[in-house]
Amino acid sequence: MKVGDKMGKVIAIANQKGGVGKTTTAVNLSACLAYVGKKTLVIDIDPQGNTTSGIGIDKGDVDSCIYNVLVEDQKPKEVIIETKVENLHILPSTIQLAGAEIELVPTISREVRLKRAIEQIKGNYDYIIIDCPPSLGLLTINSLTAADSVLIPVQCEYYALEGLSQLLNTVRLVQKHLNHDLEIEGVLLTMLDARTNLGIQVIEEVKKYFREKVFQTIIPRNVRLGEAPSHGEPIITYDPKSRGAEVYIDLAKEVISNG
Ligand code: ADP
Ligand code: MG
Repeated sequence: MKVGDKMGKVIAIANQKGGVGKTTTAVNLSACLAYVGKKTLVIDIDPQGNTTSGIGIDKGDVDSCIYNVLVEDQKPKEVIIETKVENLHILPSTIQLAGAEIELVPTISREVRLKRAIEQIKGNYDYIIIDCPPSLGLLTINSLTAADSVLIPVQCEYYALEGLSQLLNTVRLVQKHLNHDLEIEGVLLTMLDARTNLGIQVIEEVKKYFREKVFQTIIPRNVRLGEAPSHGEPIITYDPKSRGAEVYIDLAKEVISNG
């Protein structure tokens, strides 16, 4: 297949709660999709830029970022950079993006800016994964508007379902007004501590609510997954034999089999 022939599937990773595993999933799902041979782009749309640094990009070396694409209409292909992982590119974020949420408010077609940008490059990739910030503001709305589907990480903890009705309400509003075709890719249970009963209870509760929409792959708490970002590597290169690498490969395969 030559460049330009692909029709990348766009998956937004969203949950307005912080610390549920969005960035860990963006970095490692993207890297595992690339590892199994899929041409993949990860878009960091969180001003914290944890996906950018987690994948080994020094934010000090980044000349332009997703901010310039969203606010200044810079061409995404001028901003996308290669990563150390074969088949994996990134559209990086820097702290400059922190102003975008406010700067976009008075602009024309503020909700569809990311969608327009992605349309220019969609044909170059099999998968485009978007790491959303922990809010339901304009950056997340742009992501849901640009996406074919949304992947929702849910941490296996006591308040797991809290806040999800708000997120689902936002998804419904986007479906109604901005993106009729938006689907739920799946709910991903993360950071499971298999030694506690609580984890099992949360799995049952989430499955009762989301049924077949829950990914079979469950991400356990894994020390190596927590360490990898500080080395600027996805788990698949940092420790390919770890449990963390195995489960994110499983998740990549499940996403591929979803079609
Ligand atoms: P979010 O992007 O939703 O805020 P992160 O992916 O940044 O969440 O995860 C929050 C913290 O938990 C990070 O320090 C991350 O390294 C750690 N973490 C995430 N998933 C796991 C896991 N499965 N095992 C161990 N640590 C994890
Ligand atoms: Mg994050």
